[in-house]
Amino acid sequence: MEGAATILKRSQSALVAVAVGLVVAGLCLFVFSLDATWVAAASVVATAVAMTLLSGRASEKAADVLAVDADPTGSLFSPLAREVFEHFPDPLMLLDSSDRVLFVNPPMRAIVGTATERKYVSSILRTPNVLAALAHTARSGESGSVEFTFHVPVERTYRAYTMRAGTDPMVTALLLHDLTAMKRNEQMRVDFVANASHELRTPLAAVTGFIETLKGHAKDDTPAREKFLDIMSVEAGRMRRLIDDLLSLSRVELNEHVPPSGEVALESVARQAVTALSPLARAENIMIEIASAPDLPAVTGERDELIQLFQNLIHNAIKYGKQGGHVWVNLALSPGPSARGTDAFVAVSIRDDGEGIPPDAVPRLTERFYRVDVKRSREKGGTGLGLAIVKHIANRHHGRLQIESRAGEGSTFTVYLPVSRAPLLAPAAAAAK
Ligand code: ADP
Repeated sequence: MEGAATILKRSQSALVAVAVGLVVAGLCLFVFSLDATWVAAASVVATAVAMTLLSGRASEKAADVLAVDADPTGSLFSPLAREVFEHFPDPLMLLDSSDRVLFVNPPMRAIVGTATERKYVSSILRTPNVLAALAHTARSGESGSVEFTFHVPVERTYRAYTMRAGTDPMVTALLLHDLTAMKRNEQMRVDFVANASHELRTPLAAVTGFIETLKGHAKDDTPAREKFLDIMSVEAGRMRRLIDDLLSLSRVELNEHVPPSGEVALESVARQAVTALSPLARAENIMIEIASAPDLPAVTGERDELIQLFQNLIHNAIKYGKQGGHVWVNLALSPGPSARGTDAFVAVSIRDDGEGIPPDAVPRLTERFYRVDVKRSREKGGTGLGLAIVKHIANRHHGRLQIESRAGEGSTFTVYLPVSRAPLLAPAAAAAK
């Protein structure tokens, strides 16, 4: 459309210029009675001068239209600067001296919407402290920074930086830095320390209380002493398990970015985990059945970590399974949780016929200290860290954990581990080897 309009305008200018040339030629003929050669020359010169003047004015007008309508920043920064701002990963907005939007880059568009240019900033951004910081910067030229939180659609926290980016014409810049992940990690760390201290304090308080009792009025009461010593032993065991799990978790987290190097046959790992847990299963009258596809390929992994992974899952299946029920451990080749069509994973699934897990709890199971029923977990000697450890070990092995459960119908925890040197191995994992 723009091209057609330009051609039309150019043709009009040419016609006007030719007409001017003809008029000049006619005047020469009439006033000076010149011969045909001189008349033709006068006409060509007059046409050329008229065309130059007209085309100059037309291109000035076109430039004005571009600067004002199509690209309000065209006169502010070069195409290179615009390209850089467009690809800037943090949200950026530029405002003119009357607080109208001159430019927003794609990350800022994701926050304030797309129809923003030439709008007043107060009509698209409704965070009073950011607007106040922008007004202060526009007025004083001083840079500022404020923190703010959007609550919908999901909570996100940003630090907004305001600065003057130019004086002639005056431009104010607003740059946002996303603090959400950092805040979440900070909160997780605080919660983790609070939870760990709380979990340790409870058994410690019990042990301390019984020591006082044994030193005091129960000193010579033999049956009471025996009973209290048993309880103290249980509480000490709880503290030991918690400390063991905390140490395992910190070790696994520390190594999470170090690719595993050994070659592991998962069937023998799963059998070793089952053997270690058989006494517990027998105590609950639970039968563990293990089945494996023949000739499974090895996976790249750390044997000790994988034993711990399967022990945690099988132990949970016993703890939360049905007394007198079953636990099935099954190993097979699989295209993985997203089923891409090639058997590139060994899938180990651990299924029980216990109480199952409510659907809203499933996504939270691998959070540290998250338990569906805290009392039941404690009674069973749980620490709330077992599945967090499983998740970290699976991550280190470039594996996936899938949880399927229906309340009352048992649960299936499946771990997918990439086959050693498999073609579908994640490129990052392959590169790291
Ligand atoms: P815990 O030490 O409490 O068992 P985990 O991290 O291993 O901690 O598991 C977290 C929670 O997940 C458990 O407290 C339990 O509520 C739930 N859970 C785990 N495995 C199962 C299972 N097989 N069946 C039902 N619930 C389970």
